[in-house]
Parts: sequence; structure tokens; C-alpha cells
Amino acid sequence: VKAEIVAVGSELLDPLRRETNGAYVTGGLRSIGVDVLARTTVADDAAWLEQAFRQALSRADVVIATGGLGPTADDLTREAAARAAGRALKRDAGLLEALEARFARFGRVMAPVNAQQADLIDGATSLPNARGSAPGQYLDHEGRLLFLLPGPPGEMQPMFDGQVLPIVRERAGGRALVTRVLKIASMGESDVEQVVAPLYKTFENPRTTILGGAGQTELHLTGEGADEAEAGARVEELAAGIRGLLPGRIYSEDGRDLAEVVAALLTERQVSLALAESCTGGLVAARITAVPGSSAFFEGGYVTYSNRAKVDLLGVDPSVLERHGAVSEETARAMADGVRRATGSDLAVAITGIAGPTGATEDKPVGLVFLALAGDGVDRVRRAQFPGERDRVRAQAAQAALEMVRRALLGLSPA
Ligand code: ATP
Ligand code: MG
Repeated sequence: VKAEIVAVGSELLDPLRRETNGAYVTGGLRSIGVDVLARTTVADDAAWLEQAFRQALSRADVVIATGGLGPTADDLTREAAARAAGRALKRDAGLLEALEARFARFGRVMAPVNAQQADLIDGATSLPNARGSAPGQYLDHEGRLLFLLPGPPGEMQPMFDGQVLPIVRERAGGRALVTRVLKIASMGESDVEQVVAPLYKTFENPRTTILGGAGQTELHLTGEGADEAEAGARVEELAAGIRGLLPGRIYSEDGRDLAEVVAALLTERQVSLALAESCTGGLVAARITAVPGSSAFFEGGYVTYSNRAKVDLLGVDPSVLERHGAVSEETARAMADGVRRATGSDLAVAITGIAGPTGATEDKPVGLVFLALAGDGVDRVRRAQFPGERDRVRAQAAQAALEMVRRALLGLSPA
């Protein structure tokens, strides 16, 4: 069963607006084994919309449109879909009455333009909208299912989950897809690939894709089965094998990012954390404090960018800076010790490096970063050379700092 999603609305083509309904609907469809092969975003233009519906109805078994069901002149979805299907639009007396009653409940008289929200494509069934005035509808058109849903995500989502998914699931024959994401912070994409490819290539189900990001590699395992339990069991079989090949490397299998995982570990073990950041400029602190409940373990962080700040705020010995430079193992260690002293935290992490594009020297290239972790009986320093431009270097450094904490807390080797 193949699906296509049509997101309707000129505003969705604005560079600053995000089209989110497509991703939501795709996620839901995948969970019941329906693949989405196309997502189209179309302006409020009658001709383009009609074409989009024509095309979708010519190739997809399930077409789901969102948006453009309102009462105004630029809400053209009903009309365009009806034309594409070669069917008439008919005003439904029951829907009209319900609309009028809805307005009356809010003490308002319904404007005549609203009546078009009671129009149904010939042969379609209305889908009630508990949170808004525009009802949705669905039509079985020559064996293809067409759904029209309102655009506001708060209205669309419960209608999709409660009304659309059950109908599509039945049509799809009840196959289920389950996707699990294994996240790894301490290895690059190609290293992970080299280790796990020989195993996952022996599996046709689940399918595996590898995605690399800044300081992060993700393995997406998608299993298929008669139901969610069966699909999940397939995924678990491969995941267990991968875990065996990458001991201690996978930090998350439940969607959480690294900061959330580290926050949970620190909270659980009642270990407090402080930060001294130079080249990351507070990125690690921002990620930590983005996690609700981080006040349980986070003492605070210093952004010590200049040498003077490192000396004055963290008590780094000026002679260390002079002898080894601000970007050095010794300075990183002194920063970690200093912030630990200043805050009294159990653990302290320091990051100092060259994010670029300026600041490099012959023996200290852009991307060189030193990370230090200090604590009772803990003294770890890592020299890393990150590829990429400024943003990427900073993101990788922040990720590496969090991974350093995770590995120490779990008693894993440093890197
Ligand atoms: P209404 O009765 O509210 O007019 P509608 O079905 O006509 O419903 P639209 O006018 O197309 O919906 O969209 C209303 C708002 O919903 C948009 O301004 C936008 O904020 C949001 N919206 C619509 N479609 C999407 C989408 N695909 N992704 C994210 N937001 C969307
Ligand atoms: Mg509208």
C-alpha cells in the first residue's frame, strides 16, 4: 500500500514556515506498514491543487491532504479534490445544521461563506472535527482512499489518529512497521558501518539505514510484521546482534538524545556536574539545561573565552597558559579542576579548542579540541581533531564532552 500526502497552503511554501503535518502523517502511516512515496506541498491555487490531486490519485492507494478546508476564498481543497476525482460537490444538510449549531453555541451567527464547509464530495463520508469548525472527509474513489483533513495540527492530529488510521490499517491488511533508532556518539559513520554491515546485510527484515551527523551516528532499524509485537521482535533480534558488536557504544535506543541520557545518569547516581567551556561557548550548558529536571545535578557552567577569564574565574595558572597555550591538554585539565573547585561539583568537564576559521597555528589546526573530565578518582583528558567548519566543530565538541561524562559514569573506556 503506497501513500501520498498533499499539504495545502501557500503559507507553507514560505521559507520561514515549517510544514509539519506531512511528517506527522508519515510517522503514523509507517507504524501500520504503509509507505509514503511522495509528499507534495501545494499553494492555494485551484489549478495546481487539482493537478496535484489528479497525480496523487493516479499513483497512490491512499492520498491524505491537509489544509485548505476553511471557509475563505483561498480554501480550495474540497473543490480541487472533487474536480480531480470527476465528482460533484454537494452541500450536506446534516453538516450544515451541525455547523450552524456550532456557531450558535459560541453565540455567533454563521456567515454565509462558512456554508461551504458543509460541502462533501459526491460519495464521501464526513469526518467530525472536535476541535474546529471544518470537518474532514474521506472518499473511496475507484479503490483508492482519499482523505481531506483540516490544516491546523491540533485539529488534524487527533482526527488522523482516531479516524484515518483505523480505516487505512484495514485497507493495508494490518501489516505493522516498527522503527528503532540506535544512537552512537563515539564513532563515525564509516567506522560503525564497517563493524555492523556484515551483520545487518544478512537481514532483509528489518531494513537498516545509517545516518551520520555532527558527533553522531544513527542506525535506523525498520522491521515489518503482522502486528507491532512481531515487527518489534524482528527489530530486537537485529538490535541485540548490533549491541554485541558495539559494546558500550550505543547510548540510546528510545529516541532520547545524549544530553537527556547523561542527565538521567547523573540524576540517578546523584552526581553533580559543572562545566568550563571555551570554544563551545555554553553549548553543553544549553543542552544540559534544556533537559527538564537538570537542576537536580547541574551546578553551573563558566564560559571562559579569554585567557584572563580562565585565570580569574577558574584559577588556571597563568604559567600553564603561557607554556602550553589555551588550547592544550594542560589548560583543559586546569580548567576542569578549577571549575570543580569553584562550584564544589562532583564532576567537571572542560572544553578548549579551535573552532575556526581563524586561530589555527602550525601545530594547532582548526578542529583541534581538548576535553578534560575531573572528579574524585577521575582524571580523563582527550585530544580530538574534528572535521568541518566552525558550527560542526563546536557541535562535535559538545557531543564529545557529553559522551565523556557518559562513558566515565558507566565505567567505560575513555573514548
Ligand atoms: P481553518 O478552518 O483553520 O482555515 P484549514 O483546513 O483551512 O482550516 P489552513 O487554513 O490551511 O487550514 O491552515 C490553518 C493553519 O494551520 C495554517 O496557518 C498553519 O499554521 C497550520 N497548518 C496548515 N497546514 C499545515 C502543515 N502542513 N504543517 C504545519 N502547519 C500547518
Ligand atoms: Mg484556512
